[in-house]
Amino acid sequence: MSLFSEHNISIYNSISGQKEVFKPINEGNIGMYVCGPTVYSNVHLGNLRTFMSFDMIFRYFKHLGYKVRYVRNITDAGHLENDADEGEDRIAKKARIEQIEPMEVVQKYTVDFHNILNLFNFLPPSIEPTATGHIVDQIEIIKIILEKGLAYEVNGSVYFDVLKYNKSYDYGVLSGRKIEDLIHNTRSLEGQTDKKNPQDFALWKKAEPKHIMRWPSPWGMGFPGWHIECTAMSIKYLGKHFDIHGGGIDLKFPHHECEIAQAKAWNDCSPVNYWVHANMLTLNGQKMAKSTGNNILPSEILSGNTNQLSKGFSPSVVRFFMMQAHYRSILDFSNDALLASEKGFLKLMDALKTLVNLTPSNTATNFDVSNWKKRCYDAMNDDFNTPMLISEIFSAVKYINQIKDGSSSIDTENLKTLKATLNGFVFEVLALQDNTNSNSDKKLRETIEILIALRKQARDQKNFGLSDQIRDQLAEIDIQLKDSKDGTTFSLD
Ligand SMILES: [Zn+2]
Repeated sequence: MSLFSEHNISIYNSISGQKEVFKPINEGNIGMYVCGPTVYSNVHLGNLRTFMSFDMIFRYFKHLGYKVRYVRNITDAGHLENDADEGEDRIAKKARIEQIEPMEVVQKYTVDFHNILNLFNFLPPSIEPTATGHIVDQIEIIKIILEKGLAYEVNGSVYFDVLKYNKSYDYGVLSGRKIEDLIHNTRSLEGQTDKKNPQDFALWKKAEPKHIMRWPSPWGMGFPGWHIECTAMSIKYLGKHFDIHGGGIDLKFPHHECEIAQAKAWNDCSPVNYWVHANMLTLNGQKMAKSTGNNILPSEILSGNTNQLSKGFSPSVVRFFMMQAHYRSILDFSNDALLASEKGFLKLMDALKTLVNLTPSNTATNFDVSNWKKRCYDAMNDDFNTPMLISEIFSAVKYINQIKDGSSSIDTENLKTLKATLNGFVFEVLALQDNTNSNSDKKLRETIEILIALRKQARDQKNFGLSDQIRDQLAEIDIQLKDSKDGTTFSLD
């Protein structure tokens, strides 16, 4: 019997606004689509959090024995600067500025995306389709929506007719937006667009001859709209009705609302059973934005090479930090929060090392291991509540330390259960990696601490020549010291 048959997962479904018991369409199998990155710049930290939330969900399903087909796309065309079908294609713009081919932009940032995800111990999705690889599929869907009279062609572009669609269907079903409000609140684009109504959205856009990313279609040379790619790719690989569609909360409207409308217009079927949205990340209490400098790249967190952090942090510390918040909560990223997570992470890794060498005794345990195990699963079954899981993990950490110091005991059977459950949740589901393991790494860190203390002594004695020499020579071998009011920290590149 598979583990999943013993567990009822409830998932918060954005479309109903409620937690619902999860029932896959085909027992034992799950189809999950997550909107992937638009590859025109380095993956930013907010996106990393979104993808990490779905990596955790993917991992938990697999842990329970489900067969999961996880599709996460790469957007390499069609995503304009402005989500309302205006502005330049993000990739084409970058290519123009850097004077390289759009596909060079795509290649560069796809590689960056994969490298970063590997560093943070992500599992690859089952299929990673690209928008440009599915132009034909998108054109076929647009043709059918046109045939059904729910889209119209103007001057080489095709737009989805939201008002007409809403007569037979329910535009706004996911976001809760009312069509009347949308009409009222959308500014008129008179003279700037071919759209009949401002709330309509592009399925296909005509491309001027100078546009570098263009494909032939029944309506002339052009490129697909951003929303249609996800409809084409999700349905192609998961079927016209699949289990889970995920993405960042910012995609709920208009992107996911439009996906529902397209799929229903195309084949009269609501495409998705459970809509799952991961919440955003703030930095020092503020929205992250490149323009204000309140921004940090995942690679900068690892190197510590940023004025936002006092030092670098390992990928597992960052993962642990992110998993300490529920995926639907806003999470604030800060140096202090990461330092606190690092402490917790190291404490956990120490306990897991202790666990390996614990000897069972014959006396009965005074910690109910099977009840604790059940609570761990209950936490994850309750809409993937990782902070609750981590708090359960720490009650086990406390118990392990009590066994170590002799104030508690454990028998053989319970020790086996404790080990298997902790290893499963910590390494498989939360995907933390113990990189504090090697003895030489520990010794290196202790040696650097000795050098930092000697440097401080030299500075206290106003021997700045020596203190600078220590700092510079360490820098030469890529060990960066960083001074702050709380003392000196270091990072190893
Ligand atoms: Zn998408």
